[in-house]
Amino acid sequence: MTTPGISVLDGKYMVTMDLFPQQSKEFNQVYAFYENLKQGRFTTTKCADCGAESFPPRVMCPECFSTNMQWIDWPNEGTVIEFTEEVVGVPLGFGKAPLVHALVDLQGKKTMFVRVINCAEGQLKVGDKVRVAVFDVDPVPQEVKGGIQEIPRVFYAFEPVT
Ligand SMILES: [Zn+2]
Repeated sequence: MTTPGISVLDGKYMVTMDLFPQQSKEFNQVYAFYENLKQGRFTTTKCADCGAESFPPRVMCPECFSTNMQWIDWPNEGTVIEFTEEVVGVPLGFGKAPLVHALVDLQGKKTMFVRVINCAEGQLKVGDKVRVAVFDVDPVPQEVKGGIQEIPRVFYAFEPVT
C-alpha cells in the first residue's frame, strides 16, 4: 500500500486512510459486485420478489425488504448531465489534477455522481458519453491460514468514450 505524499508510510497498511472498501467474501456481503468488476462487468442487485433494481447493490430490497436478491448487469455507459473539475488542491490519494466528477444519466436507470478518470482538463463537455472504467487499487493485507496474504482489489470510475 502506498500513500502518495507520505513516504514514511510506504509499505504500511493504514486502514483509516484506505479510500476503498474491503472486498473479500469474509468482509463484504456484496463482494460479487467486485468479482464482476474484475471481469469488466458493471452489475447490481435486483429484487426477485418485486423487481426493484438498486444501486449500490443491496443484500435486502429497499422497497419490500426481501432478501431474495439476484445479480444483474447494468449499462456501463452513460451521458454527462453536469460536471466539476478540480484543478488545484486535489485531496491526498486521488493522484494528479484534474479531479473530475460528473453527474451521469445511466441510460435512465439512475442518475449517478461519479468520478471521471483518463480525462484531461477541459476535455469533458455536457452531453458527452462516458463509460465504466475498472482500475486496480492497492491490495489489502488479510490474515489467512498460514500467514498474511495480499488480497487484490479493484474499483470503478467512468472515463470519456473516445
Ligand atoms: Zn423487493
